[in-house]
Amino acid sequence: MKSYAIAAIPGDGIGAEVIQAGMNVLKTLAARDGNFQLHIETFDWGSEYYLANDCMMPADGLEKLKKFDAIYFGSAGDPRVQDHISLWGLRLAICQPLEQYANVRPARLLPGIEGPLKNIGPGDLDWVIVRENTEGEYAGAGGRIHQGFGHEIGLDVAIFTREGTERIQRFALELARSRPAKKLTLVTKSNAQRHGMVMWDDTFAAIREDYPDLTIDKMLVDAMTTRMVLDPTSIDVVVATNLHADILSDLAAALTGSIGIAPTANLNPERQFPSMFEPIHGSAFDIMGKGVANPIGAFWSAVLMLEHLGEKIAATILMEAIERVTSYGNIMPADLGGSATTREITDAMIRLLEGHNI
Ligand code: NAD
Ligand code: MN
Repeated sequence: MKSYAIAAIPGDGIGAEVIQAGMNVLKTLAARDGNFQLHIETFDWGSEYYLANDCMMPADGLEKLKKFDAIYFGSAGDPRVQDHISLWGLRLAICQPLEQYANVRPARLLPGIEGPLKNIGPGDLDWVIVRENTEGEYAGAGGRIHQGFGHEIGLDVAIFTREGTERIQRFALELARSRPAKKLTLVTKSNAQRHGMVMWDDTFAAIREDYPDLTIDKMLVDAMTTRMVLDPTSIDVVVATNLHADILSDLAAALTGSIGIAPTANLNPERQFPSMFEPIHGSAFDIMGKGVANPIGAFWSAVLMLEHLGEKIAATILMEAIERVTSYGNIMPADLGGSATTREITDAMIRLLEGHNI
C-alpha cells in the first residue's frame, strides 16, 4: 500500500478550524479507498507559537518540512500579531525557499452555488489563475529609513527575473494546453510599470511561439477585472504576477460564490521539495472561534493535494462529494447564504464518503 507523509500546519484563526475538518475528511477518504495511507503530522506553528517563542516556526522548520510528501496549510494571521510578521514568518517563509513558484488557483462555479453574476451557471465559469509565487512584488526587497520622522521613506521593490518569469509562464502555457479550451491570458501592467513588466511581456513574446495550438491574448490587469465580471466565459487559464494574481484570485473566488470555497496549490513542479496546499482565505478574524467557517476551500485544496500525489481516483471522489454537498442545498455555510456549521458540512462529507446519503 502506498503511504504519504503529510505535514499539517493548521495555523491561525479559521485556518486551524478548516484544516482540522479537512484532515477528518481525508482520513475517512483514505480508509474508504484502501489503496493508500496518509500519515499526517501536525505542527503547532503560527501566531500562538510566535507569542511564546518570538518566531512563527522553529529555525529547523524548513528542514523538517522537506521530509514530507506534501504540506496542508491553514492560515497565518492573528489580531495580536502584525500581518507582515505572520505572513512573512510562515507562509512566505515556506513558499519561497521550497521553490513553490507555481501558485495554482482554480475558480469554478460549483453546482448549487449561485454566484453574483447574472446568467452564469455551473460550466460557464471555469478558470485557473496561475500566480507567480516566489518573486515579483512579494520578493521582500526594500526597506524603511528615518522611521517615525516626517522624512521617512518606505520602499518595496518588485523583482522580476527572466528565469522566474519564463518558468511560471511556461507552466501556465503547459497547463492551458492540458485543458479542453486551450486558452491563455497573459496579465500585465506594462503600460505603467515600464521595466519589470515590460520584461515580463518580452519573455512571454519569446516563448509563446512554442505554443501555436493555444489561443493566447494579453490584458492589462485593471482591464482584466472588468473582463472577469462582464465576459467570464471568455476566460480559461490566466497567468499573472504575484500581486496581480493575488488580487484577481480573490475576485475570482467572490465570483464563484465566496472566498470560503477557493482552493490553492503552491507547487514545486520539479518535485525537488514538497508542495503546499491551502484554502485561499485567511484567518477571518470576524468569524474565528464560532465554528461557522466554510471548510469547502480546505476540502478542495485536499483534492489538489491528492491529484499532486497521484491519487487521481481519490481526488475525483472527494471533489464529487464536495459537489454533492453544494448541490444538496440544505447544507450551505453562512458565507453561501445558509446556516450550516463547519461541523455539519464536515459530517455530511464524511457520511457521503462512507457510502451513506447525506
Ligand atoms: P480573510 O480571508 O481572512 O477574510 C476576508 C473575509 O472573508 C472575512 O469577512 C471572512 O469572514 C470571510 N471568509 C474568509 N474565509 C471564509 C470561510 N472559509 N468561511 C466563511 N467566511 C470566510 O482575509 P483578511 O480579513 O484580509 O485577512 C485576515 C488575516 O488572515 C490577516 O492576518 C491576513 O494577513 C491573513 N491571511 C492569511 C492568508 C494565508 O495565510 N494564506 C491569506 C489571506 C489572509
Ligand atoms: Mn491573497
